[in-house]
Amino acid sequence: MQGAILLDRDGTLVDVVRDEELGVVNVAFHPSQLRLLQGVVEGLRLLRDAGYVFGIATNQPGPAKGQISIEAVARTNLALVAMLMEQGIEVRAVRVCPHHERGGPGGDPLLVGPCECRKPKPGLLVGLMADLGVGRENTWMIGDSAGDIEAGGRAGVRTGLVFAQNRCELCPLRAGPAALGVVPDVAGGTLLDVARAILGRA
Ligand SMILES: [Mg+2]
Ligand SMILES: [Zn+2]
Repeated sequence: MQGAILLDRDGTLVDVVRDEELGVVNVAFHPSQLRLLQGVVEGLRLLRDAGYVFGIATNQPGPAKGQISIEAVARTNLALVAMLMEQGIEVRAVRVCPHHERGGPGGDPLLVGPCECRKPKPGLLVGLMADLGVGRENTWMIGDSAGDIEAGGRAGVRTGLVFAQNRCELCPLRAGPAALGVVPDVAGGTLLDVARAILGRA
């Protein structure tokens, strides 16, 4: 059965957004903020040529926290899909978890509370595999955080960790891979490194 590569978005495909003036880091919430990370296009082309199809599985709690509208999340995701398509990478499905346990001021109350899709739960990945029409056997989850790796494990797929020291200020891995607590099947400093490792072991 055909396999897929399930991709985290922030810190895996695109960089986080740094506001030097305010000294804060956030995820991209507008198409103009999208910056593909080093090795993304090259890595995805290798995996495409090996026959994998692509989907994106992303936690976006901004709407539940009142930070960003759900429409802005969708617009940004559409722009990312178009940006990758220009590079010959077809993303066939995108699944978003817009929920958050506690929410925030001005957040949509309908999105606040526990859900089955927020990574590290496996719901987002299971749904994405159904969208893509692929099985677990030859499918991988690639992400940059412990939640991605745990979600992949719980969804029954193999996992690849993108880990670049000092890059992902938002992710729990900034303390180093030892902080992960769950073990990925492969790891590399860029998505290209992870793709090569997957193809060496697939
Ligand atoms: Mg991430
Ligand atoms: Zn959710």
